[in-house]
Amino acid sequence: MLRPDATAPIDPEPLHGGLHTRPSQPEAVRAQEEALKVLSSGELARLLDGAVRMPVERSRQVFVNRNLRLANVEMVGFDMDYTLAIYHLRRIEQLSFDLTLSRLVTEFGYPPELGLLQYDHGFVMRGLVVDKAQGNLIKMDRFGSVGRAYHGLSPLPAEVCHRLYRNERIRLTSERYAWIDTLFSLPEAWLFAAIIDLLERQGQSVEYARLYDDVREAIDAVHRDDSLKREVRKDIGRYIFRDPELGPALHKLRSGGKKLFLLTNSLWDYTDVVMSFLLDGVVTEYPSWRNYFDVVITGAAKPAFFTEGRPFLEIDATTRENTVLGEAKALERWKVYQGGNLPALERMTGIGGEKVLYVGDHIYGDILRSRKASLWRTCMVVQELEDEIRYTEGRAEEIARLGEVELLIARLDDELNVRKGMLNALDRRLDRDGGDGERAALEEERRKAKSELERLRRALRTSTGIADVLERDVELGFNPFWGLMFKEGNENSRFGSQVEQYACLYTSRVSNFLYLSPMQYLRAQRDRMPHEWAGAPTGRLSPLGSEGPSKAAERG
Ligand code: IMP
Ligand code: MG
Repeated sequence: MLRPDATAPIDPEPLHGGLHTRPSQPEAVRAQEEALKVLSSGELARLLDGAVRMPVERSRQVFVNRNLRLANVEMVGFDMDYTLAIYHLRRIEQLSFDLTLSRLVTEFGYPPELGLLQYDHGFVMRGLVVDKAQGNLIKMDRFGSVGRAYHGLSPLPAEVCHRLYRNERIRLTSERYAWIDTLFSLPEAWLFAAIIDLLERQGQSVEYARLYDDVREAIDAVHRDDSLKREVRKDIGRYIFRDPELGPALHKLRSGGKKLFLLTNSLWDYTDVVMSFLLDGVVTEYPSWRNYFDVVITGAAKPAFFTEGRPFLEIDATTRENTVLGEAKALERWKVYQGGNLPALERMTGIGGEKVLYVGDHIYGDILRSRKASLWRTCMVVQELEDEIRYTEGRAEEIARLGEVELLIARLDDELNVRKGMLNALDRRLDRDGGDGERAALEEERRKAKSELERLRRALRTSTGIADVLERDVELGFNPFWGLMFKEGNENSRFGSQVEQYACLYTSRVSNFLYLSPMQYLRAQRDRMPHEWAGAPTGRLSPLGSEGPSKAAERG
């Protein structure tokens, strides 16, 4: 019987002349290469090395997931809370926690000893998921696998985590789960975990879903009935950071010919207070914050703004009473609106689709919903990015080492597979050739191959051990409970992958636009699939560095 040749091409008449022919470099490229000699070899090396001087540190840069030509953007919209207005996280979370906790005791009948709880900002991070059925907080990777979980304030043992979350798909749209996807939600995640911890330590049984719904209702009320905002207004500088570069950044966009609009869920009374604090009189040409914006939309009820057809209502901007004057048929500068919807905004401004860039902080309400409902381009503000980048820069050495060890693991894995194949072939020859004179030599060869295999296996085990320790050390150095926000193990976290998928751009604050030209072409790093990485091993590369794709090959 004829044995098929395993190395022969599958398609006998492949496109482009077959596997082994390499098209010659086109004449046009050769001519261009000559012209490129305007750059010295040192300059070329520096540019290719990525060592280009940027006007700002990395933590303040605008990162690009999807190419965007800013010159084509005619209108830029901004969310307010946590986007234009950067809150002091610990202070606003503490305030929200205090108000919610006291409401749980006074209005929801929770025991007064809850007053003993101290808020711990470090225990919660954006992107966690609440499991209302089990009373757990979980962190997932981009494939939806649960990487770590806490019950109350205690880590869930790996086997419990496996049993609960690795046998069936987690449907985040189901009632059972709640996603902590905005910074406003951090105190609610902490309250949920800390109350479970306290009550269960006292031997009480807790109805987890009910507890979560109560916490949610209490925090919702704190937002809606003005008790939180009343406190912020009293001492706004304590809660909101006045970024001196915000005004100049907005001015630069306007000077680049862009219209600006504000699209916030906050109502007019609060919006006016916050925006005045942030922008009034910062740049002499703009005595009032209103000078920057062509359209001001408050109480926008995002995500409904993107998905429903609510009317635009005009608000009386001469008072801070949120008084509705009537339905608006046109959007005018210096007037203030409430509600509204995306198609009407596009129609009334005459600008829509890819000519609009919307900047917000809420992955669902600002970014995902607007991307799904329109062609708007999106920029996500991730305040925590500055900390995460500074931290990873500080641990660059360990992260580079981890990258090397990961690469070594992948190569050892490949090497071991090849050697195992060779050993099997030797075994087959020994079986076949039985007792002839070659046997002794073959057996000697086999013995050597086996001991080589063992040596490589030992190296693999050691490398895996080193990688595990390094990875833990790097992750837990950032947050001892949850690791890095954008990563889960050697994968992107679910949060990180949502940012990558839905935000064309992401950055730590709006004022980072000051360091870009409003006409700039923002380029994403070219996306390559694993098969396109010439010479890369089949396993993972650096998980935290920028060497290439990190794929889900599990360790061990
Ligand atoms: P934006 O980010 O500028 O769109 O504004 C967010 C608004 O939503 C702020 O006024 C918050 O107080 C409000 N907000 C945040 N979380 C809740 C909640 O759970 N219930 C009601 N309002 C909320
Ligand atoms: Mg916001």
